[in-house]
Amino acid sequence: MEAKGYAGQDCSLARALEVIGERWTLLIIRDAFYGVRHFNDFRAHLDIPKAVLSDRLAGLVDDGILDRRTDPGHAGRHLYEFTPAGRDLWPAVHALLTWGSQHRAPNRLRFKHAACQTELDGRGSCQTCQLTPPPTEILTEPVPESQGRRQDPVALALRTPHPLLKPLDTTMPPAREPGLDRVTRVTADYP
Ligand SMILES: [Zn+2]
Repeated sequence: MEAKGYAGQDCSLARALEVIGERWTLLIIRDAFYGVRHFNDFRAHLDIPKAVLSDRLAGLVDDGILDRRTDPGHAGRHLYEFTPAGRDLWPAVHALLTWGSQHRAPNRLRFKHAACQTELDGRGSCQTCQLTPPPTEILTEPVPESQGRRQDPVALALRTPHPLLKPLDTTMPPAREPGLDRVTRVTADYP
């Protein structure tokens, strides 16, 4: 197996890649910003083997990016939530989403400043308010006419506007019609 570290590299980018540079890890982090917290929801949205997901989540906990705590709603299960250091990855995730949209394929979701509904620019800033909102003040919503093909509970829940980091409720039955609004419930421990 490939070594995780870049011990010979005297650069903070190498230190960051030791934490987020493994395959799947950034997609797990992306989903955590979308409000995914349960193992089964990460798995359903990412289509990755259980063992790989377990390994990546354990690594993110060990590296201080995610906290793992007992799920009060399910005995024996856990929830994964960002630490402050994990939340600080938002600008990097947004920058990569923007680059991917510009140079590879348009993203199906877009991001707005919740306070004024202005779409964020490529730097993650709101031009109306002249500020760069933190993820707690950002909404994600589907780009119109850009319905994805995925039918997993996370993809379906993200078809209505959703605040970043707010726990995603994937327990509701999916909408029957594409685009039909689903009500997203707020749970008590929303930060
Ligand atoms: Zn704004």
